[in-house]
Amino acid sequence: MKTSNRASALVLAASAALGLAAPTALGQSQFQRLESPTSVSSRAVELARDDNRGGTARTVATIAAANRREAARPSFPVRGAFNWGQAAAAFGGPRGGRAHEGQDVMSRTGTPVVAVRSGEVLETGNDGGRGNYLNLYDPRMKATYVYMHMNRPPIVGAGDRVRSGQRIGEVGCTGSCFGDHLHFEIRAGRGIAGAARDPRPLLERWAVADHIPATLAAGAS
Ligand SMILES: [Zn+2]
Repeated sequence: MKTSNRASALVLAASAALGLAAPTALGQSQFQRLESPTSVSSRAVELARDDNRGGTARTVATIAAANRREAARPSFPVRGAFNWGQAAAAFGGPRGGRAHEGQDVMSRTGTPVVAVRSGEVLETGNDGGRGNYLNLYDPRMKATYVYMHMNRPPIVGAGDRVRSGQRIGEVGCTGSCFGDHLHFEIRAGRGIAGAARDPRPLLERWAVADHIPATLAAGAS
């Protein structure tokens, strides 16, 4: 009888944990089966044994899901006051006989620069044109984001995985640059050989979503 009571309590608890209707009229043969250790699934027992542990597991799962959503959300690359600059700052603007292949985001030196999306750092380096640069591949969008003219070498390196919003460097004016800004490109595919597209529409959307208004006074960078 004692064993049957325990089995009955276990079934009720397991049923509740599994969201099932409580069994109300179990026949004797059913009780006998339930008394056997194999008659209730180990998962049901586990769920029924400790509601707190179930709660913790759900909380951890919720946090993990929130983290995944956050990582999937794009981020505006400059985390501070900025403006869109003059005509030459725009995609397609004149650049000594060729077209500007990115959008310049005018901002003060030292303003943090972050990954716009989660992805893999393909390359970092420094040369006379790009200054301190970083190429970030986004497997979700199958695109590569190019950052140029950063103040110092990026704080992440080739092969590193970064999350959207993770700091990678700071605004500067290294390389071929007039006025502190981040030069930002979006190129199709993995690497910088793919066609460049105008990043401005996406940048504008990301700035709004991140509540970063384009309020830096012209020429203030
Ligand atoms: Zn530029």
